[in-house]
Amino acid sequence: MKHKFLKSVAGLAMFASAFAYAQTPYPTKPITMIVPFAAGGPTDTVARLVAQSMGNTLKQTVLVENVGGAGGTIGAARVAKSAPDGYTLFLHHIGQSTAPSLYRKLSYNAVDDFEPIGLITDVPMTFIARGDFPAKDLKELLAYVKANKSKVTYANAGVGSASHLCGMLFMTAIDTELTTVPYKGTGPAMNDLLGGQVDFMCDQTTNTTSQIKGGKIKAYAVTTKTRVPSLPNLPTMNEAGLPGFEVAVWHGLYAPKSTPKPIIDKLEHALQVALKDPTVKQRFADLGTEPVAENRATPEALRAHLKAEIAKWAPIIKKAGVYAD
Ligand code: ASP
Repeated sequence: MKHKFLKSVAGLAMFASAFAYAQTPYPTKPITMIVPFAAGGPTDTVARLVAQSMGNTLKQTVLVENVGGAGGTIGAARVAKSAPDGYTLFLHHIGQSTAPSLYRKLSYNAVDDFEPIGLITDVPMTFIARGDFPAKDLKELLAYVKANKSKVTYANAGVGSASHLCGMLFMTAIDTELTTVPYKGTGPAMNDLLGGQVDFMCDQTTNTTSQIKGGKIKAYAVTTKTRVPSLPNLPTMNEAGLPGFEVAVWHGLYAPKSTPKPIIDKLEHALQVALKDPTVKQRFADLGTEPVAENRATPEALRAHLKAEIAKWAPIIKKAGVYAD
């Protein structure tokens, strides 16, 4: 009898706390969305578009804070330790799934320390080089980097970044080790590429489209299976001479683990509204991408995708033998 009474008291307490959360007005102050790369790069661009639109729905400002370095793992570690109160969000990309295999030790668990909110977009990558780089197409690029491997430089955003992953796949495919130059994001890397301080890189179309269209850099191929409508003249890697080379950068939105469900629900809704926002859709299209369908902009879809991607990349990274401390 006593036992039954205790049980119902506990049930009541749980109900009361869920009720309290449902009643808690949220958000009542600005929200910070952490991007684990420097401002001005492709992840930052996606984040700012989504943050602005989510802020309109939530009727609060969503500020983007750039916490770059170590391929996105510094920002991820910061979010993992943040209060689960809905005021810290995390927009990251495919790196959330590759870092666990690339780093011997991470201070966070990429799955258990985060509350998924939803997928955002899949973005193609492009192989690009400084404007006066000698190679004019991918075949020439392959020949040139092999012949000049001691002096060619490849820019990336550190071990764990998408540009690192793409470069790692490239070097494995052509069996050639190149000198890499890590940045806190590919925004600053692009500045150096434009300035001719580094030779080439692989980066999302959300960072490269306008520079390619403006003829400021050389572009060799897009890394997706099919061509990108906004860059119709750019061949796929398959067409250009590296068959089977394929990688796309997916982005997801997270909160720290244990963020209350009613808050996650509100954020999920605001994300879904953002992905239907005509301004976001148009900007995404201009930059070679599109929002995911609504059924992928959910916690369940992001959780499943993250786990599948961790499982997909682990053996590939192991085979490449790339590790960081
Ligand atoms: N594109 C970058 C990467 O290589 C990161 C960034 O968004 O700056 O992961």
